[in-house]
Amino acid sequence: MSACIFCRIVAGAIPAEIVYQDEVAMAFEDINAQAPVHILVIPQRHLVSVQDCKVEDQMLLGHLLVTCSKVARLKNLTESGYRIVTNTGVDGGQTVAHLHFHVLGGRHMAWPPG
Ligand code: AMP
Ligand code: ZN
Repeated sequence: MSACIFCRIVAGAIPAEIVYQDEVAMAFEDINAQAPVHILVIPQRHLVSVQDCKVEDQMLLGHLLVTCSKVARLKNLTESGYRIVTNTGVDGGQTVAHLHFHVLGGRHMAWPPG
């Protein structure tokens, strides 16, 4: 069994509130929501971050972004808007080393981020 917490969620070994799933992606509620809507979109295959992706992963990256837009639709964010974030590495604030996109909405997002 993988030590990666998101791989364990994909395997069903750790519970998560799954809102969307297909053959390559999974989306679930963030356990520490930073907004009224806070969903994580991940590939089922383990990749560390965008920086870990190769040219052959570009279809997957596109698929994940389209999945973010599907999640936004499911959560009724298309009118109000939302933010997609992928923290990368230490300075990016990444704490889980499995590629993920945060879909944040339900309130106004400040800019610049902290
Ligand atoms: P990041 O800091 O960008 O790497 O984002 C990791 C996110 O994963 C954080 O927002 C955490 O709240 C979230 N997280 C960590 N463990 C879990 C879990 N078991 N289920 C759902 N979300 C989690
Ligand atoms: Zn993983």
